[in-house]
Amino acid sequence: MSWEDNRSEDKPCPCGKSHFTVTFRSNDWGQHEEQWSMYCPECARTHGLYSYIVSHKGLSDTRYIWLPKRQLRELKELEALIGELKDALAAHLRFRYAAHWTQYFMGKPKKEIWAEVTDNGSRYPQLSTFYSHVRQVGLESALNGYLQYDKVSIVTHILHLDDADLASRVVRIRDLESSLAAKNDAIRAEGVHRQ
Ligand SMILES: [Zn+2]
Repeated sequence: MSWEDNRSEDKPCPCGKSHFTVTFRSNDWGQHEEQWSMYCPECARTHGLYSYIVSHKGLSDTRYIWLPKRQLRELKELEALIGELKDALAAHLRFRYAAHWTQYFMGKPKKEIWAEVTDNGSRYPQLSTFYSHVRQVGLESALNGYLQYDKVSIVTHILHLDDADLASRVVRIRDLESSLAAKNDAIRAEGVHRQ
């Protein structure tokens, strides 16, 4: 499978003194992509490429925006901080509640466990998926998969946890995630406007 350059277009760079080039490429499978190359020495020093994926009718498309490097670094640092806080929350959950969580389900039929962790099938996974997951990794490991940020509300609800430390960790992560989402939305909205 080979990519072919179809055409390129020069566009003014962020500082306005020179340009960057967008090369449109496609392959035998009908896939398209863009390659953005900066030809302004000043902007190459101050700016970097921000990329994000837009999905539309089952097709996904990568979009690009030139951003000041400082802004790119801030986004990366925020993402890294959120990742660290999620890891720390998972460690807290495992340390304090892994034994309690496993004991709670001990001796219960698998179908009953599935009904509890999915609130009677109202969320992922389906019963058959749960069974095959348990077959693959074992029940304990499948249950341990719940001791993480994305599943913390399920664990808190089932074990009736009243843990102020855990609650404040959740609030902090949620706040940082919405601030990251707002920054990304603003960058994308401005980028669409600009290009
Ligand atoms: Zn420039």
